[in-house]
Amino acid sequence: EILLEGLSKRFGTEEVLAPLDLTIAEGSFVVVVGPSGCGKTTLLRLIAGLEEVSSGRVLIDGRDVTHTAAAARGLAMVFQSHALYPHMNVRENIGFPLKMAGRPAPEIAARVQAVASQLGLGDCLARKPCQLSGGERQRVAIGRALVRAPAAFLLDEPLSSLDAELRARMRLELARLHRALRTTMLLVTHDQIEAMTLAEQIVVLNAGRVEQTGAPLALYHAPCNRFVAGFLGSPT
Ligand code: ATP
Repeated sequence: EILLEGLSKRFGTEEVLAPLDLTIAEGSFVVVVGPSGCGKTTLLRLIAGLEEVSSGRVLIDGRDVTHTAAAARGLAMVFQSHALYPHMNVRENIGFPLKMAGRPAPEIAARVQAVASQLGLGDCLARKPCQLSGGERQRVAIGRALVRAPAAFLLDEPLSSLDAELRARMRLELARLHRALRTTMLLVTHDQIEAMTLAEQIVVLNAGRVEQTGAPLALYHAPCNRFVAGFLGSPT
């Protein structure tokens, strides 16, 4: 479970995120959606520990990690530009975090094998990133995060660099992956369809403020204001 208590962020005098309270239940899939510049990436970076909070607290499984270094929070961050190491093959890319952590080679091999088969990458282990499709590359990036058994995934527009068809396929993949893993996922996107199809719970963010939180259909059918209605394309 990830708990945000009065979390806020200012850059200089500009308040990019107003104090925000949010509970992300263990194993849930929460999507933060909002227009460009509303503070989505900043929110993820605060939770990940890549940015200092201006106020408030971040708790992961009851542990206050507000001032804990990013690497020690046990979270995995997946960015839109799934930068893989071009000179390493899939096996080495996925195993890299464990190698850095000094894990023994047999343990790494077993773990990489397990993660690769979970992600349907078992046949690509010897290939380099340039020999993979966009979707496979995305899965390798997820595999590299998954290999450390994170407490939660933080996904920043993970599909936005893909073409429409692949994006649709990867949406299904992500949903399938979440059902299989039941690891907590927090995804941010400006794409309403992505939010509506992936989320168990949607958080609508606008200009640094939470407009509404709830299940996709509840928000769609009972938006609390014009912004939410317009943004989600609710029937009028
Ligand atoms: P997008 O969808 O375009 O990536 P976003 O919702 O992720 O947008 P953020 O990247 O969180 O938005 O940015 C929110 C606001 O904070 C923007 O107005 C941005 O200009 C500002 N901002 C972000 N990072 C910094 C920074 N390091 N210093 C100053 N202002 C910043």
